[in-house]
Amino acid sequence: MEKDMLIQKSKDLLWLPFTQMKDYEEDPLVIEHGEGVRLYDTEGKSYYDGYSSLWLNVHGHKKKELDDAIKEQLGKVAHTTLLGAANRPAIELAERLIDLTPAPLKRVFYSDSGAEAVEIGLKIAFQYWRNKGYQDKTKFVTVTNGYHGDTVGAISVGAVDIFHTTYKPLMFDSYKVPFPTVYRNELPDPVDVRDQALAELETMLSEKGKEIAAVIMEGMVQGAGGMHVMPNGYLKGVKNLCKKHDVLLIVDEVATGFGRTGKMFAVEHEEVEPDIMMVAKGITGGYLPIAATLTTEEIYKAFYADYAELKTFFHGHSYTGNQLGCAAALANLDIFEKENVMEDVERKTAFVKEKLEALKALPHVGDIRQLGLMVGIELVLDKETKQPFPWVERIGYQTTLEMRKLGMLSRPLGDTIVFMPPYASSYEDLDAMISIMEQAIKETTSKVLQT
Ligand code: PMP
Repeated sequence: MEKDMLIQKSKDLLWLPFTQMKDYEEDPLVIEHGEGVRLYDTEGKSYYDGYSSLWLNVHGHKKKELDDAIKEQLGKVAHTTLLGAANRPAIELAERLIDLTPAPLKRVFYSDSGAEAVEIGLKIAFQYWRNKGYQDKTKFVTVTNGYHGDTVGAISVGAVDIFHTTYKPLMFDSYKVPFPTVYRNELPDPVDVRDQALAELETMLSEKGKEIAAVIMEGMVQGAGGMHVMPNGYLKGVKNLCKKHDVLLIVDEVATGFGRTGKMFAVEHEEVEPDIMMVAKGITGGYLPIAATLTTEEIYKAFYADYAELKTFFHGHSYTGNQLGCAAALANLDIFEKENVMEDVERKTAFVKEKLEALKALPHVGDIRQLGLMVGIELVLDKETKQPFPWVERIGYQTTLEMRKLGMLSRPLGDTIVFMPPYASSYEDLDAMISIMEQAIKETTSKVLQT
C-alpha cells in the first residue's frame, strides 16, 4: 500500500488505544520498521524510541537473538493451549521466573497482558480466602493515583481519575489510602510523608482488616500516575502491615519488572516478598504479548482439592502460555545474563541522572523523578509555587509533539514527560534524547507562555 494511503487508512479504519482520534487525525504517525533504539515512519524519518514502545523494549528492536529464538520456535510450533496441557518453553520460563523473583513465589500463572495478569492476581487473592473459608475477605486496598491496566477489575483497583471516572458505575468498590507522593506534599520531609502514609494504611487495616483480601500497589514507582517514586522504607512498611493484619500483598511489577528501576524487580530495592506479583511488559524484551502472575505455594495449595469442592481457579485465556512468547522471554533472559545488562543499566542510570541535572535548571521543570531508567519530568507554570500549567494547554502533550518533530517518541502522563529508553541505548543516544527533551521543553513552554 502507498504510504499516503496507509496514513489515510490509519485515520479511516483504526481506533487507537488511549488516543483521542481527533488529535491523531491532526498528527498521524505510521511506523514502518525499527532498528536498535530507533523507529522509522512511512516517510523514512527516524525517531528515538524514548519510551521503549510504551515501556516494553529492553534490548532494542530487531535484536538478533530474540528474532532467532522466535524463528527457532516457529520451526516447532507457534501455539497450543495451556488449558490442561503444558509446553516446553512455558515450563522452562516458569523455572527461570521462579529463580529470579523473591523466594516465596513458587507458582506461575500465565496470561497475555499486564491488565490480565492483574485480573488474575485479584481473582486469586479473592478466591484464596474463600477457599480457606474466609467468606468476608472480599475487598482490596489500593493507593491514590495507582494504575494497574484498563480492564474492569484493574480499573476497580486503579485510581487515576482522568482514566477511571467515566467507568465508576461499572467498577467494584475498593478502599483507597494515600500514596506517599513527595512532590507537592505539605510535609517537607519524605520520611514524614512515608510515615503518614503508613499510619493511614495501618488505620485502614486495623479497622477493616477482616473484610480485606489484599493490598495492591505498583513496585517502588507509581508509573502511569505520574512517575512517583516511593520514599525509602514505604514498601517494606506496607509488607509488615499486611503481615500483621493477615492481608495479602500484591505487587504489580508490570512496568517496573525486568530491570527498569535498576534492580531486576523493584521489590528487591526493599527486599520485599509479595504474596502475589505480576510481570509483563519487559518479559519478552518488548516483543510478544505475554504476562505472568506469580504466587506462593501457600496460595496455590488453597486451590488444590477434589474437583467437586469447586476450588479450581476458573480462569484462562486462549493464547495463554504462547510458545513463541515464552521462547522470546527465555532468549530475553539469556541476553540479560550474557550481556551483563543490569550492570549496564546501573551505569546508564548514573549517566542519565547527571545529564538530567541540566534540565533541572530550566524555568518550567518542576520536578525530575527517577529510579533506574524510569524517569518523569514534571512541567509547571511556576517552579516556586509548583502551580501547574492550565489544563487546556496540554503542556505534556504539546512537548511530546515537539519532541517528535525533533526525532524522538514518547507519551506524556499529564504534564509529566516520560523518559524510559531501551537499556540498549548507547551513551550518545541517551545524551541525544535528553538534548531533544531539553529543546522541546524550552520551545513548548515559551510558545505557550507567549499565547
Ligand atoms: N500495571 C501497570 C503498573 C502498568 O503500568 C500497566 C501498563 N502501563 C499495566 C498494569 C497494564 O499492562 P498492559 O498494558 O499490558 O495491559
